[in-house]
Amino acid sequence: MTMLTLPRIASLFENHGTAYYGGEAISQTAHALQCAQLAEQAGDPEALIVAALLHDIGHLMLAESLTTDMRHQETGADALRDLFGEDVTEPIRLHVAAKRYLCAVDPAYFETLSPASVHSLSLQGGPHDAGQAAAFAAQPHATAAVRLRRYDDLAKVVDLQTPPLSHYLEMAARCVRTA
Ligand code: FE
Repeated sequence: MTMLTLPRIASLFENHGTAYYGGEAISQTAHALQCAQLAEQAGDPEALIVAALLHDIGHLMLAESLTTDMRHQETGADALRDLFGEDVTEPIRLHVAAKRYLCAVDPAYFETLSPASVHSLSLQGGPHDAGQAAAFAAQPHATAAVRLRRYDDLAKVVDLQTPPLSHYLEMAARCVRTA
């Protein structure tokens, strides 16, 4: 497993950020920036804003490999462990499970999913059952993951203005752990 560095993160966006965000009409970079902007506008802590920016970094990493691994949340979270604390990595790890959880506990939520997101839900295991939902909610970073998930689902607006990537990469630099 290669550990990511800040320069490597910047080059992943540079090299692969123009790819379409799975089945949607915007790029990976636009999706990441919109997701981070939603967290910032909501007044979330910088760690969650950075998690929002980087939640799909696993997709950009997998674009450089030959595998078609569906578990991009694990790839991204694991590769960020040297750089950031769990307040960044765990919402990333849990953002797919958070979708399965929200489908189980919020009937209105499923109706808001885009066709591409409904399709990926079935590949991801479908909605949680009651036991899975309870186990998910008991995890330390579940609330942050659910917040990230709701931003993720909204961050698909074509041509929305956002701050530049550099604004959020500077924030990521401030969140790098010191110990
Ligand atoms: Fe996403």
